[in-house]
Amino acid sequence: MKNINADFLNPESGYSYEDLYDPRRLKDLADDFDKFFKKKNMNKFDDFSRYRNSNGKGLSDLEISNILIDSSFILSEFLVDLFSLEKEQTKFIKEIESEKKILDFKSVFQKKILKKYKDQDIQKFNWNELDSFADLVRQTAFTEHDFNFENKNDEEKYTAGFFLELIEIEKNYRWFYAGDKFAPENFSIPEEVKIKAGKIISSLKSAGIIKTDGKNEVQNDHDILNFILAEMEKWIIAKRTFDPNVKNWIIYKEPEKLDFNHLVKYEHQDNSLKEFMQGSQDKLRHRLGFKLTDKRMNKRQVLNEVDYCMYCHDREKDSCSKGLNDRFGKKKMNPIGIELNGCPLNEKISEMQFVRKQGFPIASLALVIIDNPSVPGTGHRICNDCMKSCIFQTQEPVNIPEVETNVLTDIFKLPYGYEIYSLLTRWNPLNIKRPYPLPYKGKNVLVVGMGPAGYTVSHYLLK
Ligand code: SF4
Repeated sequence: MKNINADFLNPESGYSYEDLYDPRRLKDLADDFDKFFKKKNMNKFDDFSRYRNSNGKGLSDLEISNILIDSSFILSEFLVDLFSLEKEQTKFIKEIESEKKILDFKSVFQKKILKKYKDQDIQKFNWNELDSFADLVRQTAFTEHDFNFENKNDEEKYTAGFFLELIEIEKNYRWFYAGDKFAPENFSIPEEVKIKAGKIISSLKSAGIIKTDGKNEVQNDHDILNFILAEMEKWIIAKRTFDPNVKNWIIYKEPEKLDFNHLVKYEHQDNSLKEFMQGSQDKLRHRLGFKLTDKRMNKRQVLNEVDYCMYCHDREKDSCSKGLNDRFGKKKMNPIGIELNGCPLNEKISEMQFVRKQGFPIASLALVIIDNPSVPGTGHRICNDCMKSCIFQTQEPVNIPEVETNVLTDIFKLPYGYEIYSLLTRWNPLNIKRPYPLPYKGKNVLVVGMGPAGYTVSHYLLK
């Protein structure tokens, strides 16, 4: 085997590529991980040792989840060090911080703005007027430059960014003028907020949009900002209806209600032929050549699914993994008679998504691999038992298989990403039953058939 250590592993680690396939060296690596863990956090290491030594006996599911989550962060740090991935890990964290704006604004939009306008006929809004108003506000105080995007054309991120800032400005003025139970005593408006607010107010006054009498009569700067925010709320609501370019925006995505009698949506082309139905045109995909598989979700869509998850392990209600029980402890059925058993592997789904949300895909993959070393063979193209048992039973469940696939592909895209995945299948300290392979015992086994069952049993026998 070619020694590619110099390109590959941190030269200070003392390990070579060959070592990652040698059971004795993997045992050394496990010992080194323990030392690393102790140095990073002795208390958490003690918890992990307690779990490992007792094989989880006497610990609640929640305690085990928390220990695994804490340990997965340390393991991620250890592997980042071993594979020299500091730059890549920083990028994952930055990506989370930057996408967070969209998810934060989505929450404001759906919980507050959408509710406020739910009974209004949006078609009657004057879109051109609202859009010109929004243009003026944006050009005055929120240039795209302010938000420092990697992709300057990311209008959704830009919109979320300036909207959150506008909300913050209005809040400062509300606290100052009208008071608020959350406002600190003797609250004063920060200087930089005053400058930004001043710019917006004066430009709207000079454009004749803010008048001092008539229907837009205003008393003070807070009234003006309140009026601006209300107009901008109307604009963001109307944008969904009038702007065709935003139909895939995450901020507008609401979970669909589940109709078990029509899980697959179809249309009748000809009312005289009731049996003739076809899927909706917007979902139609032509299968050309060998491109038979579906497109994956993009990163923003995946992070939206991760954000939608309720991380039910913290209430021991993670039915995606454990199944949904009735009050007698029997597995529930859904309305079309499918037993809700959850993941057949009891994969730590809630924990995996919780850790992904913080920006640690290596930690997420390590949690998945404890129960599912053959993860490239599962994911969004294969099974969805977890989705069927998700706590959301009357609306769209979390799309766990897409998240799982994305966690894996995030790792594959790293330098030596395949080696990281491959190492975790052989060596994973979070897998307390078999953290590293036992040395070869001189026995050979012939496995006939290399489908999922064949390669999975081979994996376990090799370990
Ligand atoms: S996937 Fe569904 S059941 Fe599982 S933790 Fe998230 S919300 Fe809960």
